[in-house]
Parts: sequence; C-alpha cells; structure tokens
Amino acid sequence: MTSDTTPGTSAPESAAPLVSLKNVNKHFGDLHVLQNINLDIARGEVVVVIGPSGSGKSTLCRAINRLETIDDGEITVDGAVLPAEGRALAKLRADVGMVFQSFNLFAHKSILDNVSLGPVKVRKSKPAEAKKLAMELLERVGVANQANKLPAQLSGGQQQRVAIARALAMKPKVMLFDEPTSALDPEMINEVLDTMVGLAKEGMTMVVVTHEMGFARKAADRVIFMADGKIVEEATPEEFFTNPKSGRAKDFLGKIL
Ligand code: ADP
Ligand code: MG
Repeated sequence: MTSDTTPGTSAPESAAPLVSLKNVNKHFGDLHVLQNINLDIARGEVVVVIGPSGSGKSTLCRAINRLETIDDGEITVDGAVLPAEGRALAKLRADVGMVFQSFNLFAHKSILDNVSLGPVKVRKSKPAEAKKLAMELLERVGVANQANKLPAQLSGGQQQRVAIARALAMKPKVMLFDEPTSALDPEMINEVLDTMVGLAKEGMTMVVVTHEMGFARKAADRVIFMADGKIVEEATPEEFFTNPKSGRAKDFLGKIL
C-alpha cells in the first residue's frame, strides 16, 4: 500500500465543487483551443457539453484527467490539483473515469479481465474481489453473459457498455463521456444512453459530450455550449433547446435538430 499525501482540502464535502476549472487556457501551437475556461461541477451534477466540431470539447475532457496538459489556470478534482505524472497521477486519474467514442478495450483480454485488471493494478484490490465487482458491474450494464469473450466478439453497443463498466470498476468520483455513442450503429445507441441515464439517476457526477438531445433532456442538469474554445452559453436543457440565447447556439441547433 502506498501512503500518498491525502488529496483535497477539508472543505465541507457537499458544498465544494467536485470538479473545478479556473481560468484554464490551452494552445495547440497558434490555436487557442481552451480560452479562459471557468467551470464548476457540483457533486451529483450531470453536465452535457455540446458544440460544433473543433470547439474544444474533447480537449476539455482530456484536460480534466490530464490526458492533455494545460498552459495555465487550474483544474481540481475533489479539491486536489492533478499532479503532473507518476503514481500520484495514476491514483487521482482513477477518480476520473473516461469513456471515449472508440471503446478502447484491451483487444487481447477477456471482457472480465478488461473490467477487473485496473482495480488490481491501480486500486490494489485483491484479484478475487476485483473479479466479483467486475461481474456485478457487467451484470448492471447487461453483458455479464459475455464475460469470457474477447472484445471483438461483442457488438459495438456491448463493447461500449463494457467500457462504462471498466471505468466504474475504478470507483471514480466523476465520469467523463466523450461522444460515447457517435461510433455506434443507430440501433445500439439507446442501450448505451440508457445505461448512462441509469448512472445519472444513481447520482454519479457526469460530464457528457454528446449531441443526443434526448439524453440531455432526460439526464442533464445543465447544458454547456462551446464554440471556438469558449463556453458561450450555459443553461438548463429545457432553456437551451427551446430558447438558445447566442447566435452561435441558434445556428448550431438549427443544423443538428
Ligand atoms: P471537439 O472535441 O470539440 O471537436 P477538440 O478538442 O478535439 O474539439 O479540438 C479542438 C481543436 O484543437 C481542433 O481545431 C483540433 O483540430 C485541435 N486539436 C485537438 N487535438 C490536437 C492536437 N493533439 N494537436 C494539435 N491540434 C489539436
Ligand atoms: Mg471531440
């Protein structure tokens, strides 16, 4: 067991935001891809991020668990600044589950191993316990009967649900979803969205990049509209979809609705 310094301040649990971005800037060369982003996400909150391609949505998600560095500003998760590297980073990163458009499962490991190996490695769980938890999670996302197969033997919708189970196995404090259904055949989208709605209802803190308006209306507490690296608009889903304020948002919704 490691005894890393305890992350976090001693702010009262419920009041402090779980994820906080303060004046975050990120460039790729000359491209100012995140422009002074300020965003607080409360415990249990579900935030849907939408916006045109290239607006910085993926970079925002990737910055939150430090798959991308930022140039300046600060990002905290449960009060702790993500360290740059090393074991402390792995530990804190495990607090932030991420599900990508491409499912990114380990191709040569069984479904069960895909879900149970992370907790053994990073959380130092006992293998038997990790397997038990993995089976519970596979049950919950509806693919327990596939546990001994390889990822390629599953449909895209099933693989994405395994990816969600894998992220949940780390007992994350927040889950990030970056266009989790955009690589799926239409008939598989709902099985993944339903799993996500279930998580939202159970109180998971979630940041979801998606253009699935049905999901946003059902599950989001807040919609954030990004364009050109900026948060242009924030509203409840109801407000945003029925009465977008900015020209950019109106234009965008006109194209996708
Ligand atoms: P979105 O997810 O909203 O489509 P991204 O965050 O992926 O947007 O990208 C924002 C901008 O940054 C785009 O113009 C994209 O081409 C650029 N970009 C993303 N990743 C990189 C990278 N690793 N190197 C250079 N440019 C990048
Ligand atoms: Mg993206």
